[in-house]
Amino acid sequence: PNDIITIRHLDLYYGSFHALKNIDASFVRQRITALIGPSGCGKSTLLRVLNRMNDLIDGVSITGQVLIDGDNIYRRDTNLIQLRKKVGMVFQRPNPFPLSIYDNIVYGPTLHGRPHKKELEEILVRSLEAVHLWQELRDRLQQSALSLTEEQQQRLCIARLLAVEPEILLMDEPCSALDPLATLQLEELMQELVKEYTIIIVTHNMQQAARVSTDTGFMLLGDLVEFGPTSAIFTRP
Ligand code: ADP
Ligand code: ADP
Repeated sequence: PNDIITIRHLDLYYGSFHALKNIDASFVRQRITALIGPSGCGKSTLLRVLNRMNDLIDGVSITGQVLIDGDNIYRRDTNLIQLRKKVGMVFQRPNPFPLSIYDNIVYGPTLHGRPHKKELEEILVRSLEAVHLWQELRDRLQQSALSLTEEQQQRLCIARLLAVEPEILLMDEPCSALDPLATLQLEELMQELVKEYTIIIVTHNMQQAARVSTDTGFMLLGDLVEFGPTSAIFTRP
């Protein structure tokens, strides 16, 4: 009932390579779930399944079901723009648009509707405040997003998602371009965001998973071999 995502019997192939093997899992609303496991085990692939980013890769075939709020997102008539609005994603390297800070934030809301200038201002303040950038950036909104530090760029990328009111935030190694202090600060931000959003984070950093997540999935060679409360997974002998 409080599950926002349910995966049933999911298999994914890249050509003939079996990258995800009969995955069954549910993700609880407003929790942070970490996906961990060795490099190449399928963590990013599983994350991309959740907003159909895999559709952009040639030769992918998928069977099984992924239900989000009860809807199978692999139905033929799924609106991918709506899906990716609801299920936003940030990546290892921050990838703001090479536009102004202002345009990075208003791009999504403008794509999804015809907001008035007044509404855009509200979205701008709300989104930047949520990632603690408003005070810093309010006087430089016309500067290029590329002039920001990596940490600011990553926060801006999160703000850009929040601007379209998502439900789920997918984070693929979001701290790997950041120094240790910025990493801890981004983790703190995740703890704030999870009060409103559901977060799924891929990390190769076990300590990070232990610090931020309530649930952890441990993957090996395309299998989800363990999935449950983080405390149970990390105390297993
Ligand atoms: P992880 O995120 O755990 O490092 P990935 O999901 O990136 O793992 O990759 C899982 C497996 O699928 C790896 O063996 C990888 O080489 C393979 N793979 C990933 N992307 C592609 C692709 N676009 N085409 C073919 N194989 C891929
Ligand atoms: P804003 O109006 O920009 O949201 P806040 O009052 O929330 O500002 O925070 C002021 C400053 O404190 C920010 O510019 C930021 O540097 C810092 N800060 C507050 N909370 C956090 C956090 N969770 N992570 C990192 N920095 C934070």
